Amino acid sequence: MAVIEVVDPSTEEAFASVPDVGVPGAVRAVDAAAGASSVWADTPPRTRSVVLRRAYELMVERTESLAETIVRENGKPIAEARGEVAYAAEFFRWFSEEAVRMHGSVVEAPAGGGKQMVLLQPVGVSYLITPWNFPAAMLTRKIGPALAAGCTVVAKPAAQTPLTAVAIEAILHRALAEAGVPEAVVNLVTSSDAKGVTAAVLGDPRVRKLSFTGSTEVGRLLLAQAAERVLNCSMELGGNAPFLVFADADMDAAVAGAMVAKLRHNGETCTAANRFFVEAPVADEFAGRLAVAMAELPVGPGLDPATRLGPLIDAAGLAKVERLVRAGVDGGARVLTGGGRPAHLERGWFHEATVLTDVPPDSPLLAEEVFGPVASITPFEPGEDVVARANEVEHGLIAYVFTGDVGRGLAVAERLEAGMVGVNKGVVSDPAAPFGGVKQSGLGREGGHEGLLAYTEAKYIAVDW
Ligand code: ADP
Repeated sequence: MAVIEVVDPSTEEAFASVPDVGVPGAVRAVDAAAGASSVWADTPPRTRSVVLRRAYELMVERTESLAETIVRENGKPIAEARGEVAYAAEFFRWFSEEAVRMHGSVVEAPAGGGKQMVLLQPVGVSYLITPWNFPAAMLTRKIGPALAAGCTVVAKPAAQTPLTAVAIEAILHRALAEAGVPEAVVNLVTSSDAKGVTAAVLGDPRVRKLSFTGSTEVGRLLLAQAAERVLNCSMELGGNAPFLVFADADMDAAVAGAMVAKLRHNGETCTAANRFFVEAPVADEFAGRLAVAMAELPVGPGLDPATRLGPLIDAAGLAKVERLVRAGVDGGARVLTGGGRPAHLERGWFHEATVLTDVPPDSPLLAEEVFGPVASITPFEPGEDVVARANEVEHGLIAYVFTGDVGRGLAVAERLEAGMVGVNKGVVSDPAAPFGGVKQSGLGREGGHEGLLAYTEAKYIAVDW
C-alpha cells in the first residue's frame, strides 16, 4: 500500500508513515460525508455542541502527546506546540458555544403585508485543505465551525504533517461515537497527491464548500477550479505583514512584539511580520535591540526544552529563505545578526534568526513572504506617509503598529489595507475574533461568529402571515 513518509525536520529522517489513500480514498471520504450529511444536519444543535465540547476536553487531556506529534512532524519548539494545542482546542470550545447560536430572523416586510423569515442552514459537505505550519489549529479552525453549523467534512491535511490530523480525527470520532452519531461526519484524506485528490473532490456535485488555507498561488488555482461548480469558497492565503514602529513607541514592548510577530513558529506563519518600517530617530536602537534578542535565542530540535527556534519545514523552505537573504545582501542590505545556517547543527533544516537593515526598497525580501526567521528593517522619516508604503504590496492579511499614541495607532490601523491589525500587540489570533485578509490574502473570515456563518446559507422565506 502507498504511504506518506513523515520526516522530522530536525533530523531530515523519516520516523513514521501514514497511508496515502489517493483519489480512491478521497472518493470514499466524499461518499461517507455525503451519506452522513442529512443525519448531521438534523442532529440537534445541542448535540452538535456537546460533540465539539467533548472534542475540546479530549484535546486538552491529550495536550502532551499532541504537542510532541506536532514537534516531530513540524519542527516548532515544544512550548509553542503546547500553545498551539491550547489554541486549536479553543476553536472546538468556541464553536461548541456558537453551535446553539445559529440565529436567523423574522421581520416585518418594510412595505407591510407580510413577514420575512430568514433561516440559516448548513451549506453541506465541506472540503477543508490545511497547511503544515499549524497542523492542529488550521484543522480545528475549519472543522469546528463546519460541525457547529451542521456540515459534514472531508479534510485534507498537508502531506508534511498528517500525524496531528490523524490524532485529531481520532478525537472527533470518539466524541461523535459517544454522542451516538456516525463517525462519517468527519473524514480525513491523507495523500501526497494534493492535485488529484482535490480535482476529484471539487468535481463531485455533492460537495458544496471549499475552505483553504495556504499560499496565494495555490489559492488562485483552487478558486479557478471551484468556479466550474460555483462553489462557496473561503480562502485564507499568504501575507506580507508590515510592522510599523513610531519613535514614541515603548521600545521594550516594540522589541518584544517584534520577536513574537516575527518568530512565532520559526517565522513560518502567514501572520509573520515581514517588513519592518521604523521611524528614523529610533531605527538604529530598534534594530540593535532586536538583533541582540534574536542572537540570544537557542536554536535546535524542538523537543529540547531549551530550544526557542526550531528547524524550517523542509529543504525547499530553507532554500527559499537562503535565496531571499542572499538577494537582500547582494542588493546592499547589512546583516546585524545571523544570515545563514547555525554552525553547531549539521543536520536539519535550520536557519539562524537574522536581522537585516538598510534593505533596498526593491528587494525581493520585501516583495515576497519570507516564511522564515528573517527580519528586514527599513527606516522611514518623521512625517513620511509610511502607511502608503506599507500598503504597496498585493497582500493584506495583517499589519502591526507600535506607538505611544493609541489615537495615532487607531488612525493608522484604519488606513492599513489588512484584514487584521495589532496595535501595540504582536499576536492577535483568537478563536473568538474574525481572522482573515483583504486583497490577495483571501476571502472570508474564520473564527468569531463570522466563522460559523461561513458554513451556512441564508434561506429567505416570504410568509403571508
Ligand atoms: P505552503 O506554501 O504553505 O506549503 P501550499 O499552498 O503549497 O502552501 O499548501 C497548502 C495546502 O494546499 C496543502 O495541504 C497542500 O497539500 C495543498 N496543495 C498544494 N498544491 C495544491 C494543488 N495544486 N491542488 C490542491 N491542493 C494543493
